[in-house]
Amino acid sequence: MNILMDAEQAKSRLSKFKDREFRIHQQETIEFVTQSDKRFRVVAMPTGGGKSLVGMVCGVMAGQANYLCSTKILQNQLVADFPESKALFGRNNYECLMDRSKFCDTCASTESNPCQYADSCIYRIEKAKAIASPLRTLNYKYFLVEAQFSGRFSGTPLTIIDEVDALEGTLIGHIALSFTERSLFRLGMESGPSRKTVTAKDGLDSWKEFGLEAMKRSLDIASSITKEIESFDKITEDWQFIKLKERDHYYHLYERSKMFIDNVTRDWIMECTERQGSRQAVTTFRPLWITPELAESFLWAKADNFLLMSATMLPKPVFCKTLGLDPDEVDWMSVPSTFPIERRPIHIWPVASVTNKTLDTAIPQLAKGINEIFKLHPHQHGICQGVSYSLCKRVADELKSDRIIIHTPQDRQEVLDRFIESKDNTVILSPSIERGISLEGSKCEFVIWIKAPFLSLMDRVVSQRLYSGPIGKLWYKSSMMLSVVQGCGRGMRSKSDSCVCYLIDYQINKAYMENPSLWPDWFREAVSWTEAPWEFKLENNS
Ligand code: SF4
Repeated sequence: MNILMDAEQAKSRLSKFKDREFRIHQQETIEFVTQSDKRFRVVAMPTGGGKSLVGMVCGVMAGQANYLCSTKILQNQLVADFPESKALFGRNNYECLMDRSKFCDTCASTESNPCQYADSCIYRIEKAKAIASPLRTLNYKYFLVEAQFSGRFSGTPLTIIDEVDALEGTLIGHIALSFTERSLFRLGMESGPSRKTVTAKDGLDSWKEFGLEAMKRSLDIASSITKEIESFDKITEDWQFIKLKERDHYYHLYERSKMFIDNVTRDWIMECTERQGSRQAVTTFRPLWITPELAESFLWAKADNFLLMSATMLPKPVFCKTLGLDPDEVDWMSVPSTFPIERRPIHIWPVASVTNKTLDTAIPQLAKGINEIFKLHPHQHGICQGVSYSLCKRVADELKSDRIIIHTPQDRQEVLDRFIESKDNTVILSPSIERGISLEGSKCEFVIWIKAPFLSLMDRVVSQRLYSGPIGKLWYKSSMMLSVVQGCGRGMRSKSDSCVCYLIDYQINKAYMENPSLWPDWFREAVSWTEAPWEFKLENNS
């Protein structure tokens, strides 16, 4: 990578950081990134290390960079800290000047009916500003779509991908082809390929035929809607905008079906699931793993060099497998934690062996263990990571503690807000707070993992991967490790913070003892063991 200036000069161009010193490990990390001769630099930097500054400084040193985040919230946080970086979002975030009740994703400008406001179109202006800026902050989804169709952000000297552990899901979602029941009905293809088919191994030809038919029919529908639109004198009515949206939907389906035919192989699988919040079935074709060819074509070919960062990272072989990377092309750096060990102890304290088979005996033991931990933290706020709603409910019923609150999928946010605002010793027991929330200071002073968060084998992708070979097994164990590490981090947000973690399922202890090297060094250095105050019976297979 061609470097235009040193790290101090680059920092001096970032207004909110120019008068601050680099934190410990930041300069050596920047040196590692800028001096590496590999195309992919991976940095595992625990919370508190200051990885956004590392990324932005490297971007300035490279002359131009895209900084990619997993969500719009993170994009906004980043540009608040780095106003020199220009943020750009998807079209549906900008008001359309032709009809202010609409957004730019329903752009009604056509050749026969060009938009009179095109020169002042907010999305077009913002995009032009981002293209001209040396630092751009984009989200994964937007970058992937842009890179595939317009390519205006491709070819930068450096692309930084933050929270890279979330990239695989977005990339698979981008490559996958999905049909709702309604779409299949509109295409006249309601029966679809056989619902029994799971992998493409036996039915690749029929899948391709299906994709080809979907492609043709989508294009036919989109073309006939386009003709209808061209016959409008002016686009002003709501139903005309609905037509535009419908046309775009079928063009999109056409593009995706084409992509599917070009890329589907015997290693793809088909899933039939129910869309969240509706009873509509969705049929999805997706690769079991992102292959190097898919990754190169959809992402890696779009920039010269990459910096991939996260606070929690899968082990290198698994990480490379999930993102279609050749390990020989990857330089890897694990940065130590800057948080004092004594402020973040991890107690492995197995009080029960929790598997689906042993739940009846495990739940009373879990409840006893949790009560013991409550006695150690009589006045503090804490969280229990509970893995599933049914387990949370059963444990809460067994505990009968007025400290515990649980929630349903519907009232999650409301209960979580109540927990955060409460000033007493409330403890939230939840299956969905292992990521994405920051509970600093007294908001969370202890975390209890009550069950090893292994992915569900009912999920076809999980079972297919697990039984696909040694790397699948390693991925399965590492995904559990990543969840535990993420969940423990919810209450430890800065150097001056403190949070005690308890891992009370024997299955976590077992996984840890079998493969300690899968777990980050900074996590392992904080681990100690405590004997359970009673003996529990290990069932067969546990
Ligand atoms: S070009 Fe005109 S119609 Fe299209 S999004 Fe912009 S303002 Fe709206």
